[in-house]
Amino acid sequence: MDYLDLLADLHKRQKRQGPGGEAETNKAIALANLDSSEPLKIADIGCGTGASTLQLARSLNAEITAVDFLPEFIETLKGKAKAEGLHEKIIPLVYSMDELPFAEDEYDVLWSEGAIYNMGFEKGVIEWRRFLKPGGVLVVSEITWLTIDRPPELHQYWETQYPEIATASSKIGILEKSGYSPIGYFVLPEHCWLENYYGPLQDIFPNFLDRHKNDERAVAVIKSEKEEIALYKKYKNYYSYGVYAARKLG
Ligand code: SAH
Repeated sequence: MDYLDLLADLHKRQKRQGPGGEAETNKAIALANLDSSEPLKIADIGCGTGASTLQLARSLNAEITAVDFLPEFIETLKGKAKAEGLHEKIIPLVYSMDELPFAEDEYDVLWSEGAIYNMGFEKGVIEWRRFLKPGGVLVVSEITWLTIDRPPELHQYWETQYPEIATASSKIGILEKSGYSPIGYFVLPEHCWLENYYGPLQDIFPNFLDRHKNDERAVAVIKSEKEEIALYKKYKNYYSYGVYAARKLG
């Protein structure tokens, strides 16, 4: 197995593949002023095993196209949707987020939690814009600096991981420059990282290492996850995910 297969194997059994929460998905629904009585057409991009897709399906009268480029994540999502009786509201799709097969002006809402960094925030908000109806809403979570200054060790880590990390004002500025009117923003609280994401992930490290005995790449995967968790615990006052809602202009 290569590194990406191992990463997928580690994460596919998890409820979520990044920081977030059901209450926070609902908070973003409220921030974006989505009306639960109105039929909405939504795309959830980089949906993973569907934590947000399922919550959107529970909370809204929507048809949700759930897209991820990893087939095993989409298979898991299908099983969960069926088990909850939500499958008729969800269209699962294996596709890459930079080559989406959508039509122009197709969606009322584009949703993406903890995933747009894979193509880069700026490129993502510019390229996805055409899939939104005029007046449609983009809701996206993105890694964000919470302060203007930060310790050099932390700065260096993120410079190598994702140099587009920036403050909320900078992210909102990109939305404004890219044909959106910002509606609002909030910061994901600590429990979205520790209780909802890192905690359950840490619990499965021993089983993962056991299944991939003697594989040095598996050991490297866990080492890197542990470093990420330790860094978050040390520096959580300096960064989090910001959740941004913005309306398409024009
Ligand atoms: N939204 C989910 C998953 C976040 S993790 C959650 O919050 O739990 C990021 C997701 O993006 C993963 O599921 C990964 O498979 C997916 N991804 C990464 N690169 C992608 C690409 N190019 N196209 C589509 N999905 C991608």
